[in-house]
Amino acid sequence: MHLYVATSNSGKLRDFAAVASVDVVLEPLPGLGEIPTPAEDESTFEGNARLKAIFYSRYAPGQVVLADDSGLEVDALGGAPGVRSARYAEDFRFVGPEGASLDERNNLYLVQLLGGVSEPRRARYCCVLAAARDGEILATAEGSVEGEIVLTPRGEEGFGYDPLFYLPEQKKTMAELEIRSKLGFSHRGRAFAVLLASLLEQQVGLF
Ligand code: IMP
Repeated sequence: MHLYVATSNSGKLRDFAAVASVDVVLEPLPGLGEIPTPAEDESTFEGNARLKAIFYSRYAPGQVVLADDSGLEVDALGGAPGVRSARYAEDFRFVGPEGASLDERNNLYLVQLLGGVSEPRRARYCCVLAAARDGEILATAEGSVEGEIVLTPRGEEGFGYDPLFYLPEQKKTMAELEIRSKLGFSHRGRAFAVLLASLLEQQVGLF
């Protein structure tokens, strides 16, 4: 199966690429950098994933285009940052130290907010994937993974909130996991498996 992935997030691309060798060829959508980004203004992961898949599929006629929306939900924050995960620090004008990346600022802001909250600081990663062709949705799928937020970052792998997202059963943060094992039970991996099954059932995109 051949799928184009509409994301410029290198962490997400690495996650998807980790399963690409199985029976799926995944490629970044050609020319993605030149395509204007649509406003992700829906209030749910599914709404944003659908709008992105529909939007980007119009740039690759006849091809199956995959888009996702994902984020972190923290119970003590009423489910925030949720759909605003990528822009959490920015939304609240949290600047952080000079030269800090967006991910670093988001993580520092989260640690600041949760400093007074006792363990376990329950949280989950959620991901909704949508596949579309020529502006029409073919399938959607969702996946989530439960964890806890730690206040001291650990690990070098992954991206985003991974150094703070602790998996009690693995006794590791997501950033301490090797990428293939991460995808085995991550929100993105789970959603991807369900989506592929659905596309295969419909015989979509088969060579
Ligand atoms: P999106 O591009 O709107 O889906 O933004 C998702 C944001 O949620 C990312 O920028 C990260 O901040 C966070 N996020 C989603 N999935 C992951 C993950 O697997 N690891 C770490 N952070 C994630």
